[in-house]
Amino acid sequence: MRCVLVGPPGAGKGTQAQFLAAHYSIPHISTGDIFRANLKAGTDLGNQAKSFMDRGELVPDSVTNEMVKDRLTHDDVANGFLLDGFPRNVAQAEVLRAILAEKKTPLHAVLEFSLADEEIIARLLQRAEIEKREDDKEDVIKRRLEVYAEQTAPIISFYRNEGLLISISAVGNIEDITANAISALSRLEQ
Ligand code: AMP
Repeated sequence: MRCVLVGPPGAGKGTQAQFLAAHYSIPHISTGDIFRANLKAGTDLGNQAKSFMDRGELVPDSVTNEMVKDRLTHDDVANGFLLDGFPRNVAQAEVLRAILAEKKTPLHAVLEFSLADEEIIARLLQRAEIEKREDDKEDVIKRRLEVYAEQTAPIISFYRNEGLLISISAVGNIEDITANAISALSRLEQ
């Protein structure tokens, strides 16, 4: 199963990714998590990403694409992967398509978690209270939502045109959403 998860910040992608990765026994690759781990460890990559993350902007494609390209060479992706937070714009989607085409391992699906705008803000503010993430402050949240609408949302039509898009609602309890995702993905296997 090679799958990309898309959806606005706060749609619960990260949570769903963990359950789906466990279900399919494949790695959950979150570019946001990789950046945060690098920030914490004080690596060059972390330092390059910090100012963009703090402002809710995308880290430049040159940095992000190289990082993902490298991650996709690890042995654990042999049986598939769930990409969470990448691609974040059409240029990244094109790079991903090229990387996978070269390896002759194209994507099986792109799973979109959809959620109304009002619900997104409420969830992000709630998460800010719990996780104390630097980029969950109100003005940064606002910017991340703009960036999502302007730069990331266009990948949804990109993948719809590729015939890869599956949309499911991100509203409801976590177990039901996971079950809906698994059932939507299992229809692909038939
Ligand atoms: P996330 O945890 O996916 O919400 O990502 C947190 C932050 O990491 C984003 O607001 C961006 O600054 C950065 N980031 C994560 N993934 C990407 C990506 N694919 N391209 C550029 N920046 C990214």
